[in-house]
Amino acid sequence: MLRDLLIDKELFKELRLRALESEEGENSQEEVELLEKAVFNRLKKKRSVKKYKKLGVSKGDLKEIIQLADILGLDVIGGPSNYELAKDHQEWCTICGRCCRESESIFIHKDELNLLLTFNPDLENGIIRNKLYPEHFELKDIQPCKFMHPETNRCAIYDSRPQVCRSYPLVLIESDGKAKNIINLRSTCNYSVQLVLEKSMILFDEAIRRLKEKN
Ligand code: SF4
Ligand code: SF4
Repeated sequence: MLRDLLIDKELFKELRLRALESEEGENSQEEVELLEKAVFNRLKKKRSVKKYKKLGVSKGDLKEIIQLADILGLDVIGGPSNYELAKDHQEWCTICGRCCRESESIFIHKDELNLLLTFNPDLENGIIRNKLYPEHFELKDIQPCKFMHPETNRCAIYDSRPQVCRSYPLVLIESDGKAKNIINLRSTCNYSVQLVLEKSMILFDEAIRRLKEKN
């Protein structure tokens, strides 16, 4: 019910399907559901359903709001973009190192190659053509990335690391001819979970505001 105050039901279904099918997001349905469960457990502590029971709000509403937060950029309702939220909350990264340990590919755009090699000349033998986009490149020794310190999880080339590492857990994709940042939905990444939680709280508050206005 709450979600319908924020987005048309059919449009939501279409966007969700598209997001789950997106190869670039690399989010399997199972992974997305795990993340949603992690967010739900945190959200119910932040936004008690009991408080809004009189308005007819249920736990199912919280779940639907989280599904919307997964796929909707808040800029469409006048809120912060995924990029702004991530930039303002770098403390949500626990430096657990999973992204550097488990990423299947560390993408290097052709335009950033020269700069990367200028700062790290030793890298020349550690870069190969990207398997999916051969005009671009990728790091050779990953899973784990050889630049990650095995104990501290710190990056040895932090100041000149590739753009994909700087942006994580956001992933830049092209949608309807426009570039946009989506969240890589990983339940094991605290940064991702917190980003979706923050968006869910903003969406929940906005939906409640609209509900009260309607009543
Ligand atoms: S971005 Fe996520 S997975 Fe990577 S170190 Fe931070 S919390 Fe861990
Ligand atoms: S280059 Fe640095 S930030 Fe990027 S995956 Fe390797 S260790 Fe992690």
